[in-house]
Amino acid sequence: MNKIADYIQTAKLESDKPFCAFLYDLDHLRAHVQARVDSMPANTRYFYAIKANSELPILRALAPIVHGFEVASIGEVRKVRSVSQDTPIIFGGPGKSDEELIGALEHNVSLIHVESMHELRRLNELCAKRDTVMPILLRVNLRGPLPTATLAMGGRPTQFGIDEMQIAEAIQLAKSLPHVKLEGFHLHSLSNNLNAAEHVKLVKYYIERIKGWAAEHDLELSYLNAGGGIGVNYADLEDQFDWDLFVGGLQPMLEANLPENMTVLFECGRYNTASCGYYAVEVLDIKENHGKTYAIIRGGTQHFRLPVSWQHNHPFVVVPSERWEYGFERKGVEDQQLTVVGQLCTPKDVLASDVTVPNLRIGDVILFLYAGAYGWSISHHDFLSHPHPDHIYLGGDDHV
Ligand SMILES: *Cc1c(COP(=O)(O)O)cnc(C)c1O
Repeated sequence: MNKIADYIQTAKLESDKPFCAFLYDLDHLRAHVQARVDSMPANTRYFYAIKANSELPILRALAPIVHGFEVASIGEVRKVRSVSQDTPIIFGGPGKSDEELIGALEHNVSLIHVESMHELRRLNELCAKRDTVMPILLRVNLRGPLPTATLAMGGRPTQFGIDEMQIAEAIQLAKSLPHVKLEGFHLHSLSNNLNAAEHVKLVKYYIERIKGWAAEHDLELSYLNAGGGIGVNYADLEDQFDWDLFVGGLQPMLEANLPENMTVLFECGRYNTASCGYYAVEVLDIKENHGKTYAIIRGGTQHFRLPVSWQHNHPFVVVPSERWEYGFERKGVEDQQLTVVGQLCTPKDVLASDVTVPNLRIGDVILFLYAGAYGWSISHHDFLSHPHPDHIYLGGDDHV
């Protein structure tokens, strides 16, 4: 983080434009993800789900490290192919058009995660026309109860995957179609799980489910896709997902339970890129209104929607700047409870509410931490037509 703060302080000396940027520490990103990949047990593969952050310098940094990329649109397929012609791509998503499926075939995607019976029939027909056979996983929405608490995509009604109640029918259909090859199942069912022991239990539960289906339907399976969903603790940065506990538990669990010739795929998004990214914004104003103190930043939720979408106070630190060019006194607060808001004309443009800040002056920079996943990528950039932030990549060949 020091190199990020140094960068901001230097930039502040060089320009009088209010600072507003996403900054990425690519050295941190590479080291963090390499350590995950290196510690994964045998019979696993570690993919990056690029919807968390699909900026090209991020993909370029990760391409040599991860086993491949998980994508959810043809646009994401193209982004990956623009950085690597041959890295493995696995392709999911609840609504894939014919154009996307054809594009996936043309871009040499390794596996398609099929999410409905209709999609299965369509893919078979498109492959027949091209005289090819596509390896697939069936995405299943499990009925549960799942052995963990934090659920989002499965174990309840959602638009994702095929209802576990219809799995026999889906398997029979897949077996009957000559241009798709059923290689396994995709069971991504939760997001932002912070409990490493529970994550091992979840993968074990997945293995039990697919072993049951394989036995019942006489299937030769190659893959279980256990999805992503490893979390980031935004409320307490010191208490993150215990990776060593996870891989330490995963290895013996897989040795005991995973059928030979099967590989477990992981496709994490948030966990890979959150910690390398920062959203740094200058304080334009500080004021009191109806008894509350507000810090108004150059930027807002149109750049960084994550805190509103998750309804949390996003963690930040203050990077002080000595630059002050007005001929009147600079306003600041000390040990003050305040709410950090953006430039938008909506009361929802809030990034942190009622947090106590030791020192903050107009012209200082608020540095939001863990902003590298689902930040810029999920935001409504042109609402109110303010200028976009800069995107700065430190520690790579990519300077923008
Ligand atoms: C979003 C998504 C992921 C990544 O989820 P994270 O919570 O960011 O790890 C993985 N797989 C699928 C199918 C997804 O939709």
